[in-house]
Amino acid sequence: MTPKDSQDYIHGVIDRNNRLLAKTITLIESSLPAHQELARNIINKLLPHTGKAVRLGITGVPGAGKSTFIESLGMLLLKKGLSVAVLAVDPSSTRGGGSILADKTRMEKLSVAANAFIRPSPSGGTLGGVARKTRETMLVCEAAGFDVIIVETVGVGQSETTVASMVDFFLVLMIAGAGDELQGMKKGVLEIADALAINKTDGDNVQKARMARKEYETALHLLRPASLTWSPPVLNCSAIEMTGIDEIWGTVLEHRKKFTATGEFQANRKKQSIDWMRSLIEEGLKEKFHKNPEVKKALPGIKMGVGNGSLAPTVAADRLLSLVNGH
Ligand code: GDP
Repeated sequence: MTPKDSQDYIHGVIDRNNRLLAKTITLIESSLPAHQELARNIINKLLPHTGKAVRLGITGVPGAGKSTFIESLGMLLLKKGLSVAVLAVDPSSTRGGGSILADKTRMEKLSVAANAFIRPSPSGGTLGGVARKTRETMLVCEAAGFDVIIVETVGVGQSETTVASMVDFFLVLMIAGAGDELQGMKKGVLEIADALAINKTDGDNVQKARMARKEYETALHLLRPASLTWSPPVLNCSAIEMTGIDEIWGTVLEHRKKFTATGEFQANRKKQSIDWMRSLIEEGLKEKFHKNPEVKKALPGIKMGVGNGSLAPTVAADRLLSLVNGH
């Protein structure tokens, strides 16, 4: 059946018809205004069916073992009778094919399992654009009834903060390195982590991984936790041997239970929705500005004036903004 209108998509998503789910996500990712309008319509109608999933963000530097970990965690969750959707935020995939969350065969078992759905990062546009599409996709997956939504991102750039702002729990995957454990790690990522997991705690690496755990525990103690309810723990795991994975899942559930009891869970989701609306407004205003024909016409001349010093930047900005405001 070819979907004819938004009702067909909505029913397809709610019945978890994977083909219609994928088609709905394609509409979300499309830049055609007609598709976007249809997608907005669908999401709005699906909204009452959203909000129930565990939203889990995962980051880590390339090679930390993210896809191996997600495969192991995903298979464990399926065994527990839960369904899993895996999404990704990879703004590097916008730079013409050079995606960091590579297209290599990832998550071989999970990708063919019933009750699992894997969608690669949308490409094209800014980090904000990619994030918006992933957020909307997350809502659609929730409406389809997935119990757990995993959003994966690479440990480079701003994408961690963006993903942390759309999930309930943010897990940072680490590996033990030689020397300075914090090397290559932005301190900022520790501040947004709800837990750290030192992966590859197996074979010859066990000792090193346990020491890394102690070092990160010390580093985290020096930071003031974002909530009095929760001190982010540091755990050891091996995605290959599947050890420590169940403990990490237990940590996610414990966090959810505690935050639900204190009201922080709902407060956090509410804040995320409002922040999202704000960033959409800001993006919309920017787009309106840059697409305005009068701005387009005036911009080169005004730029030249600012460049050669004949026009003050403040006056120039005022003049351009007043073109959009229409006075
Ligand atoms: P990603 O780039 O973060 O997605 O990392 P991958 O999952 O692709 O893993 C990078 C490499 O590390 C691969 O060769 C994996 O087989 C290996 N790897 C991942 N997890 C583990 C682990 O728990 N133990 C060991 N020894 N190797 C692992």
